[in-house]
Amino acid sequence: MKIAVIGSGYVGLVSAACFAELGHEVVAVDNDANKIELLKAGHIPIHEEYLPELIARHRNQRLNFSSDLRAACRNADVIFICVGTPPSATGEADLSYVEGVAKELAGALDSPKVIVEKSTVPVGTCEAIYRTLVLYGASPSDFSIASNPEFLREGTAVMDFLCPDRILLGVPDERSRQAITAIYRPLVEATYWSGPTAIRFPNVPSKPLQIITSVKSAEMIKHASNAFLALKISYVNSVANVCERVGADVREVVHGMGSDSRIGPRFLNPGIGYGGSCFPKDVLAFRSVAASVGYDFSILTEVMEVNEDQKRRFVSKVRDAMWTLRNKKLAVLGLAFKGGTDDCRDSPAIDLIKMLYAEGARMVVFDPVAMERARNVIPDGMVEYAQDAYACCTGADALLVLTEWPEFAALDWQMVSRLLNLPIVLDGKNLLDPARVRAAGMQYFGVGASAELAAAEQKYSTVPVALLPVQRADVPALAS
Ligand code: NAD
Repeated sequence: MKIAVIGSGYVGLVSAACFAELGHEVVAVDNDANKIELLKAGHIPIHEEYLPELIARHRNQRLNFSSDLRAACRNADVIFICVGTPPSATGEADLSYVEGVAKELAGALDSPKVIVEKSTVPVGTCEAIYRTLVLYGASPSDFSIASNPEFLREGTAVMDFLCPDRILLGVPDERSRQAITAIYRPLVEATYWSGPTAIRFPNVPSKPLQIITSVKSAEMIKHASNAFLALKISYVNSVANVCERVGADVREVVHGMGSDSRIGPRFLNPGIGYGGSCFPKDVLAFRSVAASVGYDFSILTEVMEVNEDQKRRFVSKVRDAMWTLRNKKLAVLGLAFKGGTDDCRDSPAIDLIKMLYAEGARMVVFDPVAMERARNVIPDGMVEYAQDAYACCTGADALLVLTEWPEFAALDWQMVSRLLNLPIVLDGKNLLDPARVRAAGMQYFGVGASAELAAAEQKYSTVPVALLPVQRADVPALAS
């Protein structure tokens, strides 16, 4: 198939590269001319495993880049819209980028096309795209508008795209059903995997489920899924907060909960709250969709409040471990909103840095890939940037782990212990093995383990108590 992908960000670029990998002829379009020039020159603007290899394999062959939307769309059979849908000031999705593309497309359609909305949008958006196209002069017989929401996760985007759980197609007619199923056929029938150049992922991929629904159901499925995942995170964070008060260990609790096939083990890791460019805006937007039709989706309000509270709790935890924060030097490992990506949009790590700075802490930070992007969102002078994790720890009064990079879990804890000024480790992602950290003579504070548990473990270690915690009424007690 000939495909145009409009918007070459995280979703558009990964989709374009993967469509080329599946054998299609693809033009990836963006209105950021600078980004297109960089892509043409072989520069990959985002950090995503396997993406450089795919782009190198197909660039200037089955994969090309352009800032000319009209020309790209005129040559395409199928056009994917992958532009951003950020939150507006009032919480609804800002659909002006999608509308902008629809207006441009109206003047570009010179033969029948299938237009596929891949951005995450509120239910009814495909209908609005249809109206816009007609309003701006396109003939309804020249196009179909389908929905194909994307479920990839940053950090594992290429693998998620090529090995999805399901491929969701919201189709209005036979023309669009046939076109989109043809695009995904190598994955749905698993023929891609028998090719000699297929990427060999660590897990053997299984055939994805292809789910065909109405357009509106597909739009709903994406929003409802993201909001549910956010709910699962806020739920487990709340469970962790109770664990801290009652003397249970949330790691054991989630292991027990997640072993129930009705619940499942994924998205049950407590921490400093969800972030990134999707969950915060999608929960807000989904609640707005419900409000717009007169339904108060109040559980989503609670999900957002728990999420914000989780960051405040972590700051309290740091404060309690340090007694006071003014002029304390903190080593912060992790800036991206999750491991595996350089995306710092709505990163809880960066929110925490700003909150700790407001309390007078000084910070040295390190992230294996997100340093450059972090500089764009952390105000100048707020932090110092370290060359590596060990340099970050040197002379710091405590270590904070805020992004789940596997290399942080594999640090030499004896070395970290020697480098830190005080032996205090606060793990906002429950990434580290507490026993290893404590065995290196340090105090470990994670999320969701009680004061009693930590104290009991402490009794058997040789850790010197560096600082006594301050008991505060509004936060759970912490072990020293
Ligand atoms: P992004 O900001 O990384 O990329 C959007 C791109 O669209 C930018 O490069 C921008 O320059 C371009 N653009 C905007 N208007 C344009 C126009 N008129 N013509 C051409 N290009 C235009 O966004 P993203 O993270 O890729 O997300 C895109 C959509 O996919 C959003 O709706 C998001 O919610 C959804 N989504 C994102 C993820 C994710 O993990 N990032 C996962 C699933 C779904």
